[in-house]
Amino acid sequence: MEREFDLIVIGAGPGGYVAAIKAAKLGMRVAVLENREPGGTCLNRGCIPAKAMLHASGLYREMKEAERFGIFAENVSFDYGKILAYKEATSAQLREGVAQLIKANGAELIYGTGTIVSKGVVKAVTKDGEELLKAKNILIATGSRPLRLPIPGIELPGVVTSDELFQLTEAPERLLIIGGGVIGVEFATVFSALGTKVTIVEALPRILANLDKDFAQNLKLILKKRGVEIVTGARVKSLSAAETGGAGGLVCTFEEKEEEKQVSAQYVLSAVGRVPETAGLFGEGFSLSMERGRILVDENYQTSEEGIYAIGDVTGGIQLAHAASAQGVVVAESLAGHMPSVRTDLVPSCVYTEPEIASIGINEGEAKEQGIEVSCGKFMMGANGKSLISKEERGFIKVIADAKTGRVLGAQMMCARATDMIGEFGTAIANELTVGDMLLAMRAHPTYNEAVGEALEELAGGSIHSMPRKK
Ligand code: FAD
Ligand code: AMP
Repeated sequence: MEREFDLIVIGAGPGGYVAAIKAAKLGMRVAVLENREPGGTCLNRGCIPAKAMLHASGLYREMKEAERFGIFAENVSFDYGKILAYKEATSAQLREGVAQLIKANGAELIYGTGTIVSKGVVKAVTKDGEELLKAKNILIATGSRPLRLPIPGIELPGVVTSDELFQLTEAPERLLIIGGGVIGVEFATVFSALGTKVTIVEALPRILANLDKDFAQNLKLILKKRGVEIVTGARVKSLSAAETGGAGGLVCTFEEKEEEKQVSAQYVLSAVGRVPETAGLFGEGFSLSMERGRILVDENYQTSEEGIYAIGDVTGGIQLAHAASAQGVVVAESLAGHMPSVRTDLVPSCVYTEPEIASIGINEGEAKEQGIEVSCGKFMMGANGKSLISKEERGFIKVIADAKTGRVLGAQMMCARATDMIGEFGTAIANELTVGDMLLAMRAHPTYNEAVGEALEELAGGSIHSMPRKK
């Protein structure tokens, strides 16, 4: 059997399913192929399950600390199996919603593997057999999978990636995390809250190395206070089975300041990055231009082959769900002859630690590197009423503006609700607003959001609730 569509999307993660729905809304006949579950990594093995576990573990920690608010919760405990069931039910609900939305918008969801046979032709292999699908345009949105460090011992039982960590049936007594990137620090937050002894070993001089250095400094202190051991500037060399077994069943050998050291753990999480997924994607004799496993695309997300596009994690770059979705929207719009409705170059970065971390646009260091003269307004959350009410950890909001024009160029925040509040700066930067434009809007009291206003005021002569700077 052979069928024809306007667009065939391979992969129904946040890149692919959003592109498919958008294209269908714009009148295209769309087929979307998925060989695991609709929602991709994000709904099934990434953002959503990780945030569900952060929510549950955060709640447990808060309940144990409720005495600070005059509340006594005795014998607070958790059932790890039930936390997993809640996480899975959340993913399942969203997964089913995605499948329904695809169908309701008139796109066809095909459960099977898509292989590009030639330009315009995709072979779909489903449980019922093979089918050839044809379309003028093909969109690759096959995502990524966890990278396994090529070191001795990586194959030992108990050494897991984020995929398997979600499947553990018990909270580890001791967990060693290789990599202090976003995934590493989020899992450190989850398991330290549940009482696991967590150690992070990071090769670079600081955790969250891709973000503003103020985040790393503050988060390191907060995690240490919660019992997390953090070793930076230390490269993991090998893993081996401990002779004694038990909770310290694995031994990790790492090099720190040219000295070999060891730490033992029950489980080891390899959180050292992700690799683009192209397994089974290309038929015999067919290929696209690639670089270190990622599919190369131009500014319109077109690959080296006309009519074949790629978006999201499979293209490397910023591996975030909302970036993949925005790229999907733009490709669908462009195929339908529309102008892009969203800027794909302005991507908020969010880390769901406690407190949350969020960043958009440029930071002070990047401005310096790029030779842009900027002013920086910083407000400490210790002077924010809402943060005092809820006894938040140390935090801040920083705003970066062009020194001459006052145009807002970036913002970095580490505080409660940072991942929601960063949206205000996304709107401002995308619309080229100045500090003055943003200050025209009054912010409600008492809110965390007031601190956004205060950081902006710092750029406009000094905020009301900060001590005046020495002249
Ligand atoms: P994916 O979501 O990986 O989807 C690709 C889909 O294509 C998969 O379902 C795959 O099975 C399918 N597929 C692959 N090959 C084929 C084929 N040949 N035929 C048919 N189907 C195929 N991002 C955020 O923005 N916020 C977060 O909080 C966040 N947290 C994360 C936490 C963890 C633990 C992890 C691992 C990731 C997290 N991410 C987060 C990253 C986010 O999950 C990814 O950036 C996002 O899922 C990428 O979307 P995508 O559509 O490119 O690919
Ligand atoms: P991310 O790029 O955000 O996924 O984070 C992965 C982190 O893992 C980076 O900060 C890397 O520096 C770190 N990393 C990679 N290889 C090693 C290693 N062998 N030992 C310790 N950390 C590593």
